[in-house]
Amino acid sequence: MEQNKHHQVVIIGGGTAGITVASSIRRHAKYLNVAIIEPADNHYYQPAFTLVGAGAYNLEKTKRSEKSLIPPGVSWIKDAAKSFDPEGNSVVLSSGDTVTYDYLVVCPGLALEWDGVEGLKDALGKDGVCSNYSPDYVEYTWDCIQNLKKGSQALFTQPPMPIKCPGAPQKIAYLAADYLRKKGRAGDCDLHFLTQAPAIFGVPYFARALEKVMSRYGINTHYQTNLVSINGAAKKATFEDSEGKRQVLDYDMLHVTPPQGAPDFIKDSPLAGEGGWISVDKNSLQHTKYANIFSLGDVCSTPNSKTAAAIRKQSPVVVRNILNMIAGKALEEGYDGYASCPLTTSYGKVLLAEFIYGGKVTPTLPLTPNRELAVYWWVKVTGLPLMYWHYMLKGYEWFFGHNVDYVEDKSQPASEPVEKTEEPEKKKAA
Ligand SMILES: Cc1cc2nc3c(=O)[nH]c(=O)nc-3n(C[C@H](O)[C@H](O)[C@H](O)COP(=O)(O)OP(=O)(O)OC[C@H]3O[C@@H](n4cnc5c(N)ncnc54)[C@H](O)[C@@H]3O)c2cc1C
Repeated sequence: MEQNKHHQVVIIGGGTAGITVASSIRRHAKYLNVAIIEPADNHYYQPAFTLVGAGAYNLEKTKRSEKSLIPPGVSWIKDAAKSFDPEGNSVVLSSGDTVTYDYLVVCPGLALEWDGVEGLKDALGKDGVCSNYSPDYVEYTWDCIQNLKKGSQALFTQPPMPIKCPGAPQKIAYLAADYLRKKGRAGDCDLHFLTQAPAIFGVPYFARALEKVMSRYGINTHYQTNLVSINGAAKKATFEDSEGKRQVLDYDMLHVTPPQGAPDFIKDSPLAGEGGWISVDKNSLQHTKYANIFSLGDVCSTPNSKTAAAIRKQSPVVVRNILNMIAGKALEEGYDGYASCPLTTSYGKVLLAEFIYGGKVTPTLPLTPNRELAVYWWVKVTGLPLMYWHYMLKGYEWFFGHNVDYVEDKSQPASEPVEKTEEPEKKKAA
């Protein structure tokens, strides 16, 4: 029998954003009646998938049961949201039940569009085609890296933006190259990074350092080219450039980052704005049309880098703004676009890119931000997972602020040895 239930706050999605928001609300306002709508049994710590694909982390350690993460006092509606009636403050679920709310938080993440590349679904998981973007295939990435033979050709692809963790497609290329280097086999495979973007990274300050990492490993970088089809049996991948010109490349290993977009039930809803993403104010995270709806995480329209790190800064703003509305106070415009991307440039070192809207560099620690540092490898492998499970998902919020007054020190080179080139100014002077 179909049922109707009411909760003061309803959260759609029990992923990174949903659990963080629910826990935080419970810490600030225990009296609120909160429910999470989430169909999945398991929750994954996706940022560690890069490490799993590189054989540096165990997949089991990334997984927790959803049940164990639902905060005490919060109701879990184990169902999927199907459609919205924002005028009537209700959500219809796949089961046919309806849930009504005073405040709605929408965070079902984004959809991985495996069908967006012809032949990908059939090819995935065998004959060298792998992806760190799915827990079902991420371990196969590590098999593929270890199976690289002398003379093998490995391709690493990056689709059009936005995608979650825009650094992830290149991180695995660095780790594959470093694996070969550590085995004393640097240069015996042909590695290619093929991206639809015009640059290696969206923030020029970090892009300059990352270009050096690419050239240090001898990874061939191809810009503005997009994977459009795979012939898994023949091990051939077809790419299309910005002018529609196609080229076919052979591969022994193909690491695919699938195209990504808003989930269909969001795209088709009255909440969707441009591109199908939930349309919110980029600072307050309030819906641009429906005042009692908020959104954060991968599904919302904010032009930040879609990362768990961004959610850590978005969640307190959403929670405070719901409480502000309940108290009849003005909303705060608290989210500045912060995101961070720990770029695993080798086994043992990470370049931690932290930035806000407009590509402004905003480090948290007083360390040179474009350097590859061992301490950040520790942060990535040990510190951040601990912080995720035991701090962020438990609704704790305090952390050192990122430095919005940081002035880029353009003279700093990447820390690893790179090919020395004479600076143009010095050349002129000589
Ligand atoms: C390979 C990889 C590497 C990454 N590396 C990093 C990194 O180094 N640093 C970093 O900060 N971030 C990283 N990320 C990104 C980060 O994991 C995501 O940005 C973050 O998990 C997004 O959180 P979310 O809550 O928006 O979505 P998710 O965590 O994906 O959760 C969405 C939830 O909504 C549920 N859902 C879906 N549809 C419905 C529905 N109809 N009704 C109800 N619930 C629904 C899903 O089951 C899921 O549980 C990485 C991601 C990947 C894949």
